[in-house]
Parts: sequence; structure tokens; C-alpha cells
Amino acid sequence: MRGNSSTSRALNRRLILNLLRRHGPVSRAEIATITGLSPAAVTFVVAELVEETLIIEREAVSGATGRRPVPIDINYEAHLAFGFKLNADGIDCVLTDLATNPLVTWHAPISDTSPAGMIKAISEAMPQMLAESGRLQSEVMGIGVSIPGEVDVSSGICRRSPRFGWHDLPFGELLGEHVHVPTWIDDDISAFAVAQKLFGAGRDRRNFVALAVGTGIGTSLIINGEIYRGARNVAGRFGHITSVPNGRLCECGRHGCLMAHAAEPYMLEVWRASHGTKSASRADFVAAVEAGVPVAISILEEAGARIGHHLADLVNLFDPEVIVVGGEAVQFGETLIGPIRRAMEERVFFSKPELLPDWVPGSWARGAAALATQGIFDFERSPSG
Ligand SMILES: [Zn+2]
Repeated sequence: MRGNSSTSRALNRRLILNLLRRHGPVSRAEIATITGLSPAAVTFVVAELVEETLIIEREAVSGATGRRPVPIDINYEAHLAFGFKLNADGIDCVLTDLATNPLVTWHAPISDTSPAGMIKAISEAMPQMLAESGRLQSEVMGIGVSIPGEVDVSSGICRRSPRFGWHDLPFGELLGEHVHVPTWIDDDISAFAVAQKLFGAGRDRRNFVALAVGTGIGTSLIINGEIYRGARNVAGRFGHITSVPNGRLCECGRHGCLMAHAAEPYMLEVWRASHGTKSASRADFVAAVEAGVPVAISILEEAGARIGHHLADLVNLFDPEVIVVGGEAVQFGETLIGPIRRAMEERVFFSKPELLPDWVPGSWARGAAALATQGIFDFERSPSG
């Protein structure tokens, strides 16, 4: 790689860190072989990264042919990231290591969804979570915030969040001024996609779709290793594809969007209507699905088929390697994923990408934390605050 020495050094760092992220521990000699860098360049960059405590020498294993070379690994434990997923009724908070493994998980209830209210809640949660973990502020390398809405990631500005009534709000910068830690913001689905790309089912994929089904439905398209955002940062708004002309009112203000006819609020409404009660909770619905109640199963089948129908168009357009599925509705497992897969496979033109569910409670907040850890791997961008 030509260029000035600081550019090539940055590129070599990225190359080595990403190799370790994907492969796990490997020796200096193996790094040189796989990357094509000279052994001297590898030794130099590794020394620098060890000095910064970003990578670490693990225990060498003794084999039949004697002591094996010392494996180098990312020092995941030595650095921390905060992740905050903003909701209308509270903030899901997590403190993670560099691999987005949660160390402390919190839910901070809020009544004030103004920017100031959110920033106050986040700045109050941080020291308390650090105290609970027994770690130091100096170990925190960044914080990530995921917002339901449209986010311009390059400027850190939330263009629009109907749920909070925000418009053109430089939330990243405002928060950064309060917490004095590098701050990244993004929309929920993209944050989930970043986590999947770094450490999840998308780790070894250059082209995949992250699909989330929960309160809403959304996708993030990863094309050639990067999130495809479009000209106005709103690419992948899968949930707002028109599914039923003149159908139900969607939160976006239009009628008949896919999410208005297949996301969880829709499922619950149909479930309640079938019982003639408004009080049935999500937990009641989950229990009915688990018990195999036919009405509950048919609701999931109908919603899943509708999602799969439109997913086939996405597959025809983008030909992803796999589709990683997240969101609260993954809890329904094959009862929902099965109908999505069948409807998609019936309608695709050629490729039938595998659906890979990868979701645990807390995945939204961990996605937000991944926005901060991605800086280390130079995956995408620099902080906004
Ligand atoms: Zn809509």
C-alpha cells in the first residue's frame, strides 16, 4: 500500500485488528502470512498496539514439536464501552467490554424524553454503572447511543425522531459535551447491524441483511462490508414498504406500511380482538404461542408470511449472503421464522439466503455499545461528540 507513513500505519493497524477480530488469536508469523505484511511491519504495529493495551499476548501452547509461537489477541477486557438505547419510557443501558459482552446492564426509567432529559439520565447512569462494575472512567473508550429515527451518522445529527418529536438535533455533540467521552449515535437497526458485523452472525460476511422485528420492522443492508445508508441516511426502511394499499395507519403517518400489518403491536391488537379484550398483555400472547393456541399461531403465520413476501423482493434486489434476524419477535422462534422463510423462498427469483436468528434480551443496547467499539476497528466512522 502506497501513501504516507501515518496512513499506511493506520491501515496496518486496521488490518491486524480486524484479522484478530475475525480469526481470534494468531501468532505474529501467521499475521504476516495472512496479511502479506512484512514481519518487521507486523512486529512494529503489534508493539504499538500492545503499548496501547489494545492487544495482548496470550499463553503459548506447548505441542509435540515444542513451544508454539505466542498468540496475539485483542485485549477485549481492558477497555469498556457504554451503550444506550433510547425508548419512550426509558433507556436500556449497558456497560460492555470491547467485544460487547455486557458487564453491567441497567434500565433507566425516564419521564422526560426531551434531549436534556435523555442526557441527564445517561450522565447519571454512567458513574453508577462504573461503580457497580468496579472499573474506572479512564477505561471507557466511548459511548454509543441508538435512537429510533433518522440519524445522519457523519454529523451526529438526529434528523427526525417522531417518537421523541426531535428534528435536526445534534444529539451526539450535546451528549459529548456533558460526558467528555467520544460519542457515537445511530439509528437502532444500524446499531444492531454494526454489532452483528463486528461480533455476531455477520462477522465473516461482506454482504448481508440485518432484519429486526419487534415494535417496528426494519432492515440494514451491509454491502461490501459497509452499511449502505443511501443519499439521505434512510436506506433500508423495509417496515415502511406499502403492504396493504389504504391499510392501517402507520407511525410514519402513511397507511398500509408493512410494520403496521406485521410488527408486534399489530399481532397484539389482533390477539386482543380475537379475545374481545383490550387487557391481554404481550406476556399473555407469548404464553399462548408457547402453549400452541391455534389463534396465536395463525397470527404469527400471517405476520411472518407477510414479512417473508416482501423479504423476497429485498433478496431479489440485493442478493445477500444471509439474513440475520433480531428484534424482540425472535423470541417466537421457528413459529415466526418458519413462515418468513417459507414465504420468502416461494417468491425469490434465484438465491435463498439462510435466515440466522441472533438475538438475546439486551441486544439493542449492545448494538449501541458496538457503535463505540467500531471506532477501534475503523469500521465506518469517527465520533460525533
Ligand atoms: Zn410507515
